[in-house]
Amino acid sequence: MQSDKLPPKENFSEWYHELLMIGEIVDNRYPVKGMCVWFPFGFAIRKNVYNIIRELLDVDHYEALFPLMIPENEFMKEAQHIKGFENEVYWVTNGGSSPLEVKLALRPTSETAIYPMFKLWIRSHADLPLRVYQIVNTFRYETKHTRPLIRLREITSFKEAHTAHSTWEEAAQQVEIAIERYSEFYRRLAIPFLVSRRPNWDKFPGADYTKALDVIMPDGRTLQVGTAHHLGFTFSKTYDITYETLNGEQELVSQTCYGISERCIAALISVHGDDKGLVLPWEVAPVQVVIIPILLGNKETTLEVCKSIRNRLQEACIRVQLDTGDERPGAKFYKWEMKGVPIRLEIGPKDIDKNVVTLARRDGIKKIIPIGTLIESILSEAKEFHKAINDNARKFMEKNIREVASIEEAEEYTKQGVAIVSWCGEEDCGRILEDKVEANMLGEPQYSHFAETQCVVCRKMTTKRTYLARQY
Ligand code: ZN
Repeated sequence: MQSDKLPPKENFSEWYHELLMIGEIVDNRYPVKGMCVWFPFGFAIRKNVYNIIRELLDVDHYEALFPLMIPENEFMKEAQHIKGFENEVYWVTNGGSSPLEVKLALRPTSETAIYPMFKLWIRSHADLPLRVYQIVNTFRYETKHTRPLIRLREITSFKEAHTAHSTWEEAAQQVEIAIERYSEFYRRLAIPFLVSRRPNWDKFPGADYTKALDVIMPDGRTLQVGTAHHLGFTFSKTYDITYETLNGEQELVSQTCYGISERCIAALISVHGDDKGLVLPWEVAPVQVVIIPILLGNKETTLEVCKSIRNRLQEACIRVQLDTGDERPGAKFYKWEMKGVPIRLEIGPKDIDKNVVTLARRDGIKKIIPIGTLIESILSEAKEFHKAINDNARKFMEKNIREVASIEEAEEYTKQGVAIVSWCGEEDCGRILEDKVEANMLGEPQYSHFAETQCVVCRKMTTKRTYLARQY
């Protein structure tokens, strides 16, 4: 056990890196910079988290799988898109010792792998809308400082969805649907988030516009944890993706794409974790309940009761572990707290005499529960636990976001959190803002309304606002 090595969460960067190792999420010691190994425990979290994404998308999307390598000629077709990615691409140039006739790009994202196939798949209006997604690894030659789960050269868990529609308006509607699905996803992880429309100079290369979800991390910086792009007709023009209308005419499709990566797990760990280690929401915890026998007096009887309780929980589809190891109960408490297990049951001879167990939640709540109603109690505590960590996370977010009235205040406030600033929407004013505040513009808050006031740069009256933050 190395758990005593975890620094306090207020030293966020060290805490994060140590917790990924001690909590057995990812191992950063693989000998290629920016490439990490998922530990089995971390991978189990990943599996549960991505099951939620699948469940949310499978309603009306199809999961598919496209090749990792993209031929240079397809990759280079869309000029704006290339400009956004060309400095980050890994190229495969050889097959064995022979140079390849056509170089192959390792996908940094898959538009240029998927859309030539869309051209073949889409024939008529009856084929639309088309919605597919895949969960794959992508590669980007990051030159900035890499960080496990946050900035990687191999993004291991990129969920990218791609859709095609008969009209631009329908595609715009799909962007809203994507944001709603992602919102539901983060609600299920008890992670509060901001939604904004990125300024034009920060949209996805080739998109008409981009909306994004950001999470405020413990150090006040924001992490972009989901994006949805309206691609308009950019790619359908380039790849000639058309459909036959009811009148027999050929029209271009309008497209969207939207993505989530393992940054969702970086946010999950960072938002909920504490000085003791991981805190995992019930739905994604690999171990939801741990049973710790208190072995005093008649050990056999205690173990028998623990085993029968474990079996009952398993029958109720609860992911449960009975820890029969040799360590003292205190050391076991510590170990399973580090692993973020939502509920711990302590069962000793005194409890058995009274026909009860002691239930301890990872957020510190402790209760005595009758064995007869144990399953019901656990399930209701699981709900309460979700609400408690959600409330806690929301309080943190609200404490770290504030509307400010001037450039100076924005500069001061973005050192600790996210500032909301009035901005007329003009690029010139936006650039000045970013420059003077020394922070990134996340863009216009979505689905909220503000009073009319002056743009902090040009003094023109406006109801628009922008988020300003230091970004990961
Ligand atoms: Zn202005």
